[in-house]
Amino acid sequence: MSTVGVVGAGLVGCLAALGLSKKGYKVTILELRDDPRKSQNKNLRSINLAVSNRGINALEYVDPELAEIVLSKVIPMTGRMIHNLEGVQTSQNYGLTGKEAINSIDRSYLNELLLNEVEKAGITLKFNHKLDRIDFNNDNGNPILKFIGNEIEPLEFDFIIGADGSFSKVRQNLQKFIRMDYQQEYIDCGYLELSIPGGGPQQNEFLLDKNHLHIWPRDKFMLIALANLDGSFTSTFFAPWDILEKLSNDDAVLEFFEKYFKDSVELIGKDHLLKCFRDHPRGSLLTLNCKPYHFANKVIVIGDAAHSMVPFYGQGMNCGFEDVYVLLKLLEQEKDVGAAFSKYSETRYKDLASILELAKENYKEMSHKVNSKVFLLKKQIDFILTRILKDKWLPLYTMISFRQDIMYSKAVEVHQRQDKILKIIQNVILGAAVFGASRVYKYLTQK
Ligand SMILES: Cc1cc2nc3c(=O)[nH]c(=O)nc-3n(C[C@H](O)[C@H](O)[C@H](O)COP(=O)(O)OP(=O)(O)OC[C@H]3O[C@@H](n4cnc5c(N)ncnc54)[C@H](O)[C@@H]3O)c2cc1C
Repeated sequence: MSTVGVVGAGLVGCLAALGLSKKGYKVTILELRDDPRKSQNKNLRSINLAVSNRGINALEYVDPELAEIVLSKVIPMTGRMIHNLEGVQTSQNYGLTGKEAINSIDRSYLNELLLNEVEKAGITLKFNHKLDRIDFNNDNGNPILKFIGNEIEPLEFDFIIGADGSFSKVRQNLQKFIRMDYQQEYIDCGYLELSIPGGGPQQNEFLLDKNHLHIWPRDKFMLIALANLDGSFTSTFFAPWDILEKLSNDDAVLEFFEKYFKDSVELIGKDHLLKCFRDHPRGSLLTLNCKPYHFANKVIVIGDAAHSMVPFYGQGMNCGFEDVYVLLKLLEQEKDVGAAFSKYSETRYKDLASILELAKENYKEMSHKVNSKVFLLKKQIDFILTRILKDKWLPLYTMISFRQDIMYSKAVEVHQRQDKILKIIQNVILGAAVFGASRVYKYLTQK
């Protein structure tokens, strides 16, 4: 039985470990933190996140029962709810029928559920194991993991999976012994997490529609909120760093929120809003990709360790889960581990590059375009064409979030073709409207 070391017990590492264990590998997970099920210090990047079809597909492939448990703990969100400056709310469906949904789930619940499943599967979990270095056995070429702390024994495996997040030590080690291309970019946007408590006597009543992702789009910055099962909403404020830095005292925060997000101040509560701004950390957002993702049949990186993306398409974890699905399928189809790793690097890059770009682009859509009449007109035409042309025409959001059978790069290719046609139709409609309006004006002014 081949032995595998998975570095990182985050969402992607746990799913990879489960999938490999089901395929008969003897798996050990090495994680730098303490067991999050026992620790108070959760150190989470966001309290909840959206799981959609690609993520669900990977969960189902690894363990259909696990996927069912996850789906029983989500809140489906069928669209965006746009809050304008006056607090008027307008719903915009994500899908064609109004039934397609992305799903809000508690991040720590999901991580702990996966850890419990990992334990049940007999996978060895070693917490407080911070990877420092990877050496290779001179006799058999196997990777040997060395950890911070002299008392921790090095561990040798047949191969290792690096799922140790954006600042991956596995990736850093890989960069030393393969010619890895690597790009990393911090975007000029930070975030800060807030929350909207539940209402009513038990504080468990939703104060906003729970089945929407709420957005307060204000061009350069925005506020969003996703529901939690207990009646609360987790809300995130995204803004360029100069704005975040200016919001450094209570008066500035209140004035800003009263001006741009008036209805949210009531929901969040003034005191709580100020407390969040005083106490909560500001997170930075980066995008990174590398190539290749592997070294021979010995090391491969997946999830955020291989490709970190900004969170505006809600795909980071979903894409990491899809990495697991793609890799497991290749391990099944290819003649050996080395061939599977090579094929993975060869085929996966274009899909990852596509979703990284889309995630960056979607900030404009969420914070700005959703307010634009031209954008909404284009979206309507997109939906009408989908209805008429059935499967021959699909909106981009549908392909990314609801169609796990269409790879990211294919979705972008199809979208680029469709977008050219959409622009022509949109221009014809706008041109006709302008022409019509000018005729009416002429007629009225002639009288
Ligand atoms: C604000 C925000 C909102 C988001 N919303 C969504 C969303 O709605 N939908 C979505 O799909 N994605 C979302 N994401 C992205 C998602 O959080 C990540 O893509 C996902 O968590 C990546 O999982 P991972 O397991 O690859 O990495 P991580 O979650 O970073 O896990 C890496 C693990 O490796 C461990 N580790 C690190 N270094 C070492 C080391 N040297 N030795 C041993 N262990 C180590 C870490 O402790 C950690 O447990 C969001 C991200 C942010 C920031």
